[in-house]
Amino acid sequence: MLAVLAFFVGGSIGSFLNLAADRMPAGRSIVSPRSFCEACNRHLASFDMVPVFSYLWLRGRCRYCRARIPLRFMVVEAFMGALFTSIYFRHGFGAEFIVLGIAVSLLMVVALIDLERGLILNRIIYPSLVVLVLLAPFWTELGLTRSFFGSESMVASLLNSIATGLGAFLVFLAIALAFPKGMGGGDIKLAGVIGLLAGFPGALIALWLGIVSGGLVAIGLLVFRKLGRKDTMPFGPFMALGTIAALLAGGEIISWYQEVGDYVVRF
Ligand SMILES: [Zn+2]
Repeated sequence: MLAVLAFFVGGSIGSFLNLAADRMPAGRSIVSPRSFCEACNRHLASFDMVPVFSYLWLRGRCRYCRARIPLRFMVVEAFMGALFTSIYFRHGFGAEFIVLGIAVSLLMVVALIDLERGLILNRIIYPSLVVLVLLAPFWTELGLTRSFFGSESMVASLLNSIATGLGAFLVFLAIALAFPKGMGGGDIKLAGVIGLLAGFPGALIALWLGIVSGGLVAIGLLVFRKLGRKDTMPFGPFMALGTIAALLAGGEIISWYQEVGDYVVRF
């Protein structure tokens, strides 16, 4: 029953992120006005905003004017619902749920805006940097052992965040200087955020997953001619999704690696 609650919390936050992703790039307020239909301007009632179910019940259309609601709305709600459910199963409801929930939401809105507009907003990145530096000493206290090898002291946790954030920023800066067409300033700053957030070795897994999945998708798009050689593909969404995977399953990803490694060594 509580898992259903976690799903609805995640779905409702997903609904809010949909709105934020539409409004923030235009500099509009994310608080007011309340949700309304972009086609007929009618305010949505709370029963129009039950995550996932309203979309299915109304078959993806506005209740009042029947205008199509983008499928993205439901996909983000369902995805966030699933993520929050999985956080609940791992950590229950508590400080970990709140902190991981906020981190995942932040990454998701960055991914959405970059995917749709090719932008990573400083208005999201800079406040995140400040909050993550302040949060850096407390990861073990929050029950989230980012090192995966045991708990960190507060000083170790702070140093881990700052060193990993700075390291990721500098590595991505070097990549951007070497391949000026590949990566933008937003990606470099996002790498710093991810370093601060996930620490070592989490950020390594996060960015590695981002680079591999982004590279595979880019190759696929080139092969199927959906992407020209001169086109650019936003890279932020892959970094963000890689980080979500590392935050939720970093320990498992590391042990799979060790198992595969042991297997290879035995040959
Ligand atoms: Zn409408």
